[in-house]
Amino acid sequence: MTIRHPEKINKPVNPVKKKPYWIRSKLTNSKEFFLTKTIVNQNNLITVCQEANCPNITECWSKRHATFMIMGDTCTRGCAFCDVKTGKPGKLDPLEPFKISSTVKKLNLKHAVITSVDRDDLDDGGANHFYEVILETKINNPETTIEVLTPDFLRKGESYKKVIDAGPDVFNHNIETVPGLYRQVRPGSRYFASLDLLKNVKKINKNIFTKSGLMVGLGENKYEILQVMDDLRSAEVDFLTIGQYLQPSVKHHPLNRYYHPDEFKELEIMAKSKGFLLVSSSPLTRSSYHADEDFAKLQKNRVNQTNAKSIS
Ligand code: SF4
Repeated sequence: MTIRHPEKINKPVNPVKKKPYWIRSKLTNSKEFFLTKTIVNQNNLITVCQEANCPNITECWSKRHATFMIMGDTCTRGCAFCDVKTGKPGKLDPLEPFKISSTVKKLNLKHAVITSVDRDDLDDGGANHFYEVILETKINNPETTIEVLTPDFLRKGESYKKVIDAGPDVFNHNIETVPGLYRQVRPGSRYFASLDLLKNVKKINKNIFTKSGLMVGLGENKYEILQVMDDLRSAEVDFLTIGQYLQPSVKHHPLNRYYHPDEFKELEIMAKSKGFLLVSSSPLTRSSYHADEDFAKLQKNRVNQTNAKSIS
């Protein structure tokens, strides 16, 4: 049996706390859910929905909304919150851009979300592969908008610019947690490098919506969350998602606490007051949750904002 997280073998055992009543996945085993599953399997694709054990999978797949994970199922980082398998990844699949592109067509997606594992083993961190996947998907699906959720491309120079060159509609990179918890939660990453990536995307192409996500329940306090919001706004991030951290196993970072839905509402109000174009904040919010509907809202809010500016 292969060990899913070899770097966590010697970590302490942190019992998983019982979930409160408001954290319940919807059980909708619809025909559409099985159709999505069949199409994903037939095309040998990997999804973050399955790999990260996402609680929203039945709901999302019932709407044919699957988030593709490219460049394999094995991540080169060992984040303490994440359930994606870690280790030494295999070679890139040169046919993957075509597989993704044809699956987007089969699923008839209006908005496709593409993410990846971290590929620190590649000179460009996988930026060129992202480029190929986005381009091929666009060629085959000219009406489909594309959202990418990328790694940080840390120590890969300006390779991230290749992803911007492909012209995604939304560029998402998750900040994940507050800076004070990076050493425990995201040891291979750097808070200010993630912020810089988001800032640079906006600097290079103002038309691309930028997006970032924060998990709560890892041990942060309210003032640290507010600071992250301010930092993201300084980087001109358009869209913030806030969701509850769910501890995947006893070897993962210990859950500090479950936030009540009212607290998520409060965070949403605070984030909106800081000027984000859109905020999604709820216990089950994930970066790609409702991404298609949220993209339409982003477009509408941008038009309204531009109109308001031209009047004032
Ligand atoms: S929220 Fe995202 S990762 Fe989770 S099932 Fe939906 S699309 Fe997949």
